[in-house]
Amino acid sequence: MSALTDPAQALIDLHCRALKLPGLRTGYAAIARDATSQGQSYVAFLAACLAQEVTARRQQRLAARLSAARFPAPKTLDSFDFRATPQLPKSEVLALAAGTFIGTHENVICLGQPGTGKTHVATGIGIGAIQAGYRVRFINAVTLAQELLQAQQEYRLPRYLKSWQKVDLVILDELGYLGLGTGGPLLFQFCAERYERGSLLITTNLDFARWGEVFADATLTAALLDRLTHHAHILLFQGESYRFKESQKRRGHPAGSEASG
Ligand code: ADP
Ligand code: MG
Repeated sequence: MSALTDPAQALIDLHCRALKLPGLRTGYAAIARDATSQGQSYVAFLAACLAQEVTARRQQRLAARLSAARFPAPKTLDSFDFRATPQLPKSEVLALAAGTFIGTHENVICLGQPGTGKTHVATGIGIGAIQAGYRVRFINAVTLAQELLQAQQEYRLPRYLKSWQKVDLVILDELGYLGLGTGGPLLFQFCAERYERGSLLITTNLDFARWGEVFADATLTAALLDRLTHHAHILLFQGESYRFKESQKRRGHPAGSEASG
């Protein structure tokens, strides 16, 4: 009998919809077939049904949080070639991706020249944190500065800042690549408010000595750096642009093969 004509199956469908059990609704038929062919007990069958729903919900939550994080590209650490950045401590990066630094409100700063993999690693750590159950949001520093400015102009800055409190890890990408203008001090306020309340991961090509130019206030910046780096894992990305190296390789010039080896 098909699902359309079997009254029991139609009832299961209805009840699953009423109870909001989409995983069970789509998975029970296969589970029932397995149970019959393996001669499972009713209890084992029920356990398998519940496990199916638990798994489906976990996957759904993961997908929702991944999409809420708004990563520019879903890059994981599996696809990151640590041999290209020998100075980068692989074990520390993998440990960060387990997310425990978020529980203790520590920060991460990825510092290095463009194309060396900072955004890739930041995304990989962010995806790892989501898998560990945290809420993550990725945002470009210029975009955040603009949103902060707009919120201020519309007299809703406190509310806007509060909306970030539910995010466990904020990934602030490309700090200092472009002038932030009047958004600089607001970005400073954002970072200062997160201090010891949540984690921040910042990617930047600017040495700490130049952060004052970003926030447009040397004294405030010194105070912020002091706080941020107090609880920070600082990852240095050195070497040539990976993108450049890859394009050279495609053209048959293995860049750096003679120089760095
Ligand atoms: P950055 O943020 O430092 O400017 P990206 O993370 O955007 O650099 O890296 C530039 C490109 O090169 C991306 O497509 C990234 O996935 C890739 N890439 C960089 N470093 C590596 C690496 N070590 N292994 C694999 N891909 C890499
Ligand atoms: Mg980048």
